[in-house]
Amino acid sequence: MKSKIMIFGIFGIWFFLIFAAFFIHSVSFDPVFGTPRNVVFRHQSRGVIKDRHGEILVYGNSPRKYRIGAAGSPIIGSVHSEIGSEGYIEQKYSEQLISNKKSKFWYLLNQSDEGFPVTTTLDRKIQVAAYNALNGNKGAVVIMKLNGEILASVSLPTYDPNKMSKKYYAALTKSPDKPLFNRAFDGRYEPGSTWKTVIAMALLEKNSKGKAVNCTGSMKVGNKEIRCMKAHGLVKNMASGYTASCNIWFMKNALDLEPDELRDAFRKFTGREMKEKLSEEDIALTAIGQGEGVSPLELAMLAASIGNQGMKPVPHVVKTSTEATKVMEEKTAKVLSEMMVEVVRRGTAQGLSDYLKKGYFLAGKTGTAEKETPNGKINNAVLIGLAGKSKNKPEVAFAIVVEDTHGYGGTVCVPIMKEILRYYFTAARNK
Ligand SMILES: [Zn+2]
Repeated sequence: MKSKIMIFGIFGIWFFLIFAAFFIHSVSFDPVFGTPRNVVFRHQSRGVIKDRHGEILVYGNSPRKYRIGAAGSPIIGSVHSEIGSEGYIEQKYSEQLISNKKSKFWYLLNQSDEGFPVTTTLDRKIQVAAYNALNGNKGAVVIMKLNGEILASVSLPTYDPNKMSKKYYAALTKSPDKPLFNRAFDGRYEPGSTWKTVIAMALLEKNSKGKAVNCTGSMKVGNKEIRCMKAHGLVKNMASGYTASCNIWFMKNALDLEPDELRDAFRKFTGREMKEKLSEEDIALTAIGQGEGVSPLELAMLAASIGNQGMKPVPHVVKTSTEATKVMEEKTAKVLSEMMVEVVRRGTAQGLSDYLKKGYFLAGKTGTAEKETPNGKINNAVLIGLAGKSKNKPEVAFAIVVEDTHGYGGTVCVPIMKEILRYYFTAARNK
């Protein structure tokens, strides 16, 4: 009898140990945090999301509360128990938001624990100011510090995360306006004349200031007649070509560049490759920003690199240590920055010149890219630039794109930026 009990006892202990080992193994290696649409994942208690000053942007669970509503989408994102997560921060920082860095085993026993908070680089007030300034226009705004910290990232049309439900989500996914799409990060827009900044960089980097060009108002390239906004006459140098935004000056001088120099410049700011064979027409169209598409974030990075003495920072929404990459010589960045100040002083971004007069730093370049549509021509208007509270020093880089407008960079984007900067210069906190 005793030996039977002992045998059962030994089996029992073995059984228990094997079961426990399987359990711990499966828990330790199971992706507890799961994919964004994993059922377990949807029900985790998430930590709060804060802005750079510690102000709470998102808190609570089921339903999760989004304090700035649509103004924070899609950069912040949303989480809903029936749908899962959407948007950038709620997805990318999910693990931190739902974990408490205890072991996954401990975590399973303790699911009620709220996850860690995530402090972002966003500035709630600048984010809301940028959203309001865009005023329902389809497009995007990115404002970042020169070290790559994103202060605001707006994309319109968007959605209100507080209204999330199965029905609302279904309508969002069907909308032709793509409200879930992050135009600021993932949109691809022809950059128009803002890309002349990159052509100027490529010339300066090979110690060229370009040649004088006589602008008659149009130029034939391949089979295409490309027009300038007017006949500028003799455009003596890069600075005057840039301030006047003369297409002919930039096309003729871009044709003197090696195709590889254009390709390198494109790669520096996008990480992508241009198509392999560049015809004369391709080069001319690239010179005036009617070639490859770039994102508003990439355009903001171009401006940031100029403000940062030629060093391109890594864009981010949660503070990390990052290293900037050199994309141009310091003296090149200086010349570009001066030319961009001139565009504000007396070029197409003059709408911002009040801020120069008030003693702030302000530099910019506008662009307008034409699109053919079944209903005729329509524009994407673009503006990139740099601003700072002291006269000689930029602090932030910005990029704005407004889609499907009959206006231009100077008439559509400049007033929007003027409104955001009014807030930035008078109300934003220095941090
Ligand atoms: Zn011209």
